[in-house]
Amino acid sequence: MLNVLLHSNELANSEYRPNHPFKPARAGLLLELLNRYALLDHENQKIVESVSLNEELLYLFHTKKYIDILKRAESGEFTVDMLQAGLGTTDNPVFPSMFRLALLASGATYEGAMLLLGNTTRVAFNPIGGFHHAGKDHAEGFCYINDIAVTIADLVRRGQRVACIDIDAHHGNGVQDAFFDTNQVLNISLHESGKTLYPGSGFETEIGEGEGTGYTVNIPFRAETDDEVYLFAFEALVPPLIKAFNPDIIFTVIGGDAHKDDPLAHLNLTSNAYKHIVTVINQIAPKIMAVGAGGYNIHRAVSLWTLAWAVFCGLEPVDRHAGLIGGMMYGPETNAGSLEDPPYAIDGLNKDRCFDDAKKVVRFIQDHVFPIHGIIG
Ligand SMILES: [Zn+2]
Repeated sequence: MLNVLLHSNELANSEYRPNHPFKPARAGLLLELLNRYALLDHENQKIVESVSLNEELLYLFHTKKYIDILKRAESGEFTVDMLQAGLGTTDNPVFPSMFRLALLASGATYEGAMLLLGNTTRVAFNPIGGFHHAGKDHAEGFCYINDIAVTIADLVRRGQRVACIDIDAHHGNGVQDAFFDTNQVLNISLHESGKTLYPGSGFETEIGEGEGTGYTVNIPFRAETDDEVYLFAFEALVPPLIKAFNPDIIFTVIGGDAHKDDPLAHLNLTSNAYKHIVTVINQIAPKIMAVGAGGYNIHRAVSLWTLAWAVFCGLEPVDRHAGLIGGMMYGPETNAGSLEDPPYAIDGLNKDRCFDDAKKVVRFIQDHVFPIHGIIG
């Protein structure tokens, strides 16, 4: 079975605006790092060129009115409804090729998912995908088109059971809204609490509505949460839920912004937790569609994705540059030559508070969501 990396040079060379924290250039750096660690030249691996999303698919989630606004904004028009649709802000600037690039990034995610249906591909990874904040009628949080919502909606239409596991530091609010009232998708988001981080939602009490009750699962963490606390909640909740739901495909949003060095979020994860989570997902998923999402310490995000790709492919990264260069190419010199962090833990009152919060969340979900899935908590 193949492991496919979706890539587009055009996308990797694009940018929202100079100084905007979302950097598509991470995709080019990822290729360099994957080559450096000998993670791209195995026979079950393939790089596939991204293709644009067919516009018709947008309407599986987005409104026609919003898509029209996106197109008009890209063409240079300015109208008040663009502001109402979240465009022209610091987070979501209007820039040349905005809509076209969003279609290309989303198209790669969709393409990856379609490859999974062909039964020759087990894992597809689109590093420049995962726009989980985009709403049906507006842009927000650096996201214009919700590639996750569109792609999962199409997979469901094709009779697939899809579970989404989102480990980006931010709550996947757009994806939550898309599937809040359906039991066709199990949507699990692990993130920093909305009390301290955008978008301010994703509390454990948000569990879906109507038929969808119990199929939205939010696992918020207190700011400063470290590997140990995070893994406690992950292990207690995610594998049992996935096992009970029994998906055909796990769609996973592997943002790197929960890392302790991320400048936008306040969690304290290291590569050790990240690698463990990805390993568990790899073990419990029949097939995986992975998207890169956030990660604003670029060196860290790209290192984490490299580790994830190695796990998906069952490979150990081997540094081809070890001993050859002084380690100035990637990040601080002390970190070069290794993708992995030393162990890191918080302690004292801070740790107790993080653990107490996590225990409350775990208990709430075991009490209110597990019974819906027939899981003995
Ligand atoms: Zn994020």
